[in-house]
Order: sequence, then C-alpha cells, then structure tokens
Amino acid sequence: MQIAVLALQGAFIEHEQMLQRLGVPSFEIRNREDIEKPFDGLIIPGGESTVQGKLLRELELFEPLQEMIAAGLPVFGTCAGLLLLAKEIRNDDRTYLATMNITAVRNAYGRQLGSFHTEAEFAEIGLIPMTFIRAPYIERVFGDAKALATVDDHIVAARQGNQLVCAFHPELEDSASVHRLFLNMVQNRQV
Ligand code: GLN
Repeated sequence: MQIAVLALQGAFIEHEQMLQRLGVPSFEIRNREDIEKPFDGLIIPGGESTVQGKLLRELELFEPLQEMIAAGLPVFGTCAGLLLLAKEIRNDDRTYLATMNITAVRNAYGRQLGSFHTEAEFAEIGLIPMTFIRAPYIERVFGDAKALATVDDHIVAARQGNQLVCAFHPELEDSASVHRLFLNMVQNRQV
C-alpha cells in the first residue's frame, strides 16, 4: 500500500508521521510529476483551503486529482481538506474539488476563539480525542454521504464511499484510530 499526502501547504508532516507510526509507506505530492507514481489513497491535510485550492490549480494538480477521486480513489481530508472536498461551502462563494455531498461552514467556530479540544463518539471507533483549529463543521450531508461524528449537534466527520472527512485533526493525536479507519477503506476500496 502506498499513500500520497498532498504537501502544498499546512499540516502534511503530521499525517506522514502518523503513517510512519503505522508502518505505511507514503510520499508527498508537490507537483504534477508526483501523481504519475502509483498510489492507493490520498490525504489532504489541514491548512488554508484557499491557499491549497489556488496551488492545486497553479500546479495543474486540480483536474487530475478531481478525476481520480471521482473515479473512486480513497481520499481522507482533514479540516481544510474537508473544505476542499465539499460540494457546498455555505459561507464562501468558492468550492474546490467538490466531490463530496456535504455542505460545510468555514471557520464555523469563529476565527480567533475557534480552537478547542474535546472528546466525542466516532462511528464504529468509539470515544476519541478531537482537536479543532479554526475548523469548519458540516451543516448537512446529502445523497450517499453519512455523518460519522457530531460535536454540539454539528457534524464533524463524514464518509461517502471511498471519501472520508474530519473537521478536526486526528493527525495531532496519539490515537491512530481514524487513520486506521482510512487505511481500512483503502484496503477495502469500494467499486
Ligand atoms: N480555516 C481553515 C480554512 O478555511 C481551515 C483550518 C484548518 O485546516 N486547520 O481553510
């Protein structure tokens, strides 16, 4: 198994470290040539969705990655990665890869005071720690997207086929359970 980590901006190193801990080989996607290598799953890290979206276009990664995800490539987006995958962003005119049937709210907890830590139930995993950093939440899932976790009545994780998103940052925790879930999705890729 080979996991590609989008490494244009944001918290990509933490995902790579998590994969290393789990003994899973990974490499970084930084430019067009990198996606010529074979990979089984893609992680889109937290950071700034606007910056990552702009760089994806400038580096001509946008369309090929969008096509791969639409064709079933397993993808895991955290925080800004969630925004990049959302079909709708309620408080932003922009959308990006737009492959997932979710309506997200950007900086949903406020810009300055929006960072916090909590614990909540995650479907099929149980209680896990969750760190939110200027996070979005999911206002609505539709079609075949399903909510996997909620905090204060807001959806903070969802899955649709081979796509998984979290509003929080599982790569910052000791618990590797959400990454394990993603790797399991990669291994059992749905057609
Ligand atoms: N606020 C960021 C955005 O809008 C997301 C924050 C994060 O990824 N930690 O893209």
